[in-house]
Amino acid sequence: MAKILCVLYPDPETGYPPKYSRDTIPVITHYANGQTAPTPKGSLGFKPGELLGSVSGALGLRNYAEGHGHELIVISDKDGPDSEFEKFLPEAEVVISQPFWPAYLTKERIAKATKLKIAITAGIGSDHVDLEAAARAGITVAEVTGSNSISVAEHVVMMVLSLARNYLPSHEIAIRGGWDIADCVSRSYDIEGMHFGAIAAGRIGLAVLRRLKPFDLNLHYTDVHRLNPEVEKELGLTYHPDAESLVRAVDIVNLQMPLYPSTEHFFNDEMFAKMKRGAYLINCARGKLVERDAVVRALESGQLAGYAGDVWFPQPAPSDHPWRTMPFNGMTPHMSGTSLSAQARYAAGTLEILESYFDGTSIREEYLIVKNGELAGTGAKSYKLT
Ligand code: NAD
Repeated sequence: MAKILCVLYPDPETGYPPKYSRDTIPVITHYANGQTAPTPKGSLGFKPGELLGSVSGALGLRNYAEGHGHELIVISDKDGPDSEFEKFLPEAEVVISQPFWPAYLTKERIAKATKLKIAITAGIGSDHVDLEAAARAGITVAEVTGSNSISVAEHVVMMVLSLARNYLPSHEIAIRGGWDIADCVSRSYDIEGMHFGAIAAGRIGLAVLRRLKPFDLNLHYTDVHRLNPEVEKELGLTYHPDAESLVRAVDIVNLQMPLYPSTEHFFNDEMFAKMKRGAYLINCARGKLVERDAVVRALESGQLAGYAGDVWFPQPAPSDHPWRTMPFNGMTPHMSGTSLSAQARYAAGTLEILESYFDGTSIREEYLIVKNGELAGTGAKSYKLT
C-alpha cells in the first residue's frame, strides 16, 4: 500500500460542486502533433467537465487509489514548515501537484521525502520541483505533456487581443455606466499588420502562432530547436537566432519557454530596453522568467504598452504583489491551463501515469521530465538542469 499525497487548490468559495454552466465538453482524442490524449486502462473516476483540480474533486483519483489499496491524502495547505504538505511528505511514495497551486519540492523538502519515488505534475511545467535534487535522489518526475497546451494557447490569443484593443479598461467603463469612447480608444489598436514574436515555439508557442495566422500578423519566433522548414513556410515564419534579435523586430511578444535556472529573469531591464517602445508582452509560461519590478518599471515608463499573463511567483501571489496593480496589466490568477476542459485531460493523464507506475510498465516518453537520475523525454528536450 502506498501513500499518495495530492496537493490541490481549495474548493470554490461558493461550495463544491459548483453550478456548471454547460452539460458536456467536446471529446478530444488527439493533439496537433498526432500524440493521443491520455488513455488510462481503468475507468475514469469522474465525468469530463467536472471540477477536479480542487480538493473535493481529488483529480477523480479516489476510486482508483482506494480500489487498489492505496491511501490518497488530498490537501491544499502547502507552504511553510508547519504545513500539512511538510507533515505528510516524509511518508509519501507519490506526490501529485498542479502548477496552478504548486507544492514546491525544494531540495530541502526532497531531503526529507525519503520514501518519495515519483512526483507527478497534473498539468505541464515541473519547475516547482528542484529537478537536479530529484535526479540526485532517484525520483522520477513526470507531467501530462500536451494536456493543456491548447487551453493556454487560447488564453494567450485572448490576452493579445485584449491588450492591443484595450478591452479590459473599456469593459470597466461600460460597467461603471460610462460612454467615454475617447478614453476607450486612446490606447486601442488593430493587430492586423503588426509583428508578433514567439519566444519558444514548442507545443504551446506553435499553437499560438497557428491561431494568430488568420489575423494577418507577421509572425516571428526563436527556439533552441528550429522548426521544420515546411512549418516555417506554411506559417510564413521569420526565424531569429536569439530573443534579443526577435524583441527588436516585433510589436507583441509571447514568452513560452520553460523555467529552469538559466531562464530565470530572462526578461529584465536590459531585455525590455531592446524592445520597441509600446510593445506588449504576454507571459503564460512562468512568473520567474520575468524580473518582477522590471515589468513595473517598463509599464510605468511606457516602454511596454501592456503586460498580461497568468503566472506569478510565488503562487498564490501575495495580495500586495505589484503585478496586481501595475498600469496596463491584464493579469489573471494562474488559470489558463486548468479550464474544466483541460482538467478532464490532465486528470486522465495523471491516472495513466499512476497506473504505469504501480503496474511497473513504462510511462510514456513524452510525459517524462526526470528518470534514472537525469533529464528524460520532454525534460531532455525542453529543460536544462543549470
Ligand atoms: P514544450 O516542451 O512543448 O516546449 C518548450 C519549448 O521551449 C521547446 O521547443 C524548447 O526547445 C524551448 N526552449 C527551451 N529553452 C529555451 C530557451 N532558452 N530559449 C528558447 N527556447 C527554449 O512545452 P509547452 O507545452 O509548449 O509549455 C511551455 C511552458 O509553458 C511550460 O514549461 C510551462 O512552464 C508553461 N505552461 C503554462 C501553463 C499555464 O497554465 N499557464 C500550462 C502549461 C504550460
